Amino acid sequence: MATPRKPMKLTLPPPESTMGKFLTHSGTFRDGDLLVNKDGLRIVPQSEGGEAPPIEPLDSQLSLDDLDVIKVIGKGSSGNVQLVRHKFTGQFFALKVIQLNIEDSIRRQIAKELKINLSTQYQYIVVFYQCFYFNGAISIVLEYMDGGSLSDFLKTVKTIPEDYLAAICKQILKGLIYLHHERHIIHRDLKPSNILINHRGEVKISDFGVSAIISSSSGQRDTFIGTRYYMAPERINAKKHGYMSDIWSLGLVILECATGNFPFPPCDSFYELLEAVVNQPPPSAPSDQFSPEFCSFISACTQKDAKDRSSAQALLNHPYLSMYDDLHVDLASYFTTAGSPLATFNSRQL
Ligand code: ADP
Repeated sequence: MATPRKPMKLTLPPPESTMGKFLTHSGTFRDGDLLVNKDGLRIVPQSEGGEAPPIEPLDSQLSLDDLDVIKVIGKGSSGNVQLVRHKFTGQFFALKVIQLNIEDSIRRQIAKELKINLSTQYQYIVVFYQCFYFNGAISIVLEYMDGGSLSDFLKTVKTIPEDYLAAICKQILKGLIYLHHERHIIHRDLKPSNILINHRGEVKISDFGVSAIISSSSGQRDTFIGTRYYMAPERINAKKHGYMSDIWSLGLVILECATGNFPFPPCDSFYELLEAVVNQPPPSAPSDQFSPEFCSFISACTQKDAKDRSSAQALLNHPYLSMYDDLHVDLASYFTTAGSPLATFNSRQL
């Protein structure tokens, strides 16, 4: 298991922090011992009277005022993502801005998820540096991934060949193994826009928690236009979902990368799509176009019954992932040449 990275000074939340009442207080977002405002995030002991104490900058190296916006690099379901540069160090970050015109209970859940993200630093997970609450929006400072997301990359390359896809899939699985087996966290919203790549050939999982909560809020369903749905049948059926729900999503993502198409046929409404996920046979890879190993890998992920799916750990040992080992594929040059210019930003342009 690779060693967790620690690229910047961070104050990590205590493992068991008390969740208290959520209130806003002069631009301060408070949930139990968590305080977020324009100066950053801190963990404070619960105060008796419920009044939030004045907030001080968590980390003088990273405050919202010190970040210059370079450009908008993405638009997600919950808001924009901007490329920003730290004024003094010149370091680039991605700043994800989430507008908070949502119910209080959802905000409370988001704050809880933010704590989980802050304490998660690992080679195959996009680093979550800091978050701020300001002017009604939560802004999250993330590691900048200069190749953008798999969804951006797919728009350029259309399909990813099996050998490259195996190398990509291995890194996603290592991220999932870390989340599932070490942190006991279910991602809940694995999809191409949450898998990010960079010019070093690195593939990292982003955004677990926050976007899943937002996309499951009711407003989303009114805006069905070509929505893709990577969530497992058991989630739609409101049955208990667990780690294996992420494996279903992984199967759909990998299949989409291989074929260039979302694995379910176009539907007229969100409910029709949900109906298809629950009632149609599970998606599979066409055996006349792909290796038997690849087809078997997809089928190990897309079993309708969650119990029949393979775990992330078992999938990492699947023959599909080892059959291309000898080729030593170079993802760094694949991402920079096949997807060139890099989807969101080319460092040579600055
Ligand atoms: P969603 O809401 O669909 O989960 P996001 O808001 O997380 O999507 O991301 C939308 C887009 O923003 C991505 O497809 C990608 O192009 C870009 N993006 C998100 N995070 C980063 C990052 N850390 N580095 C570079 N680009 C990013």
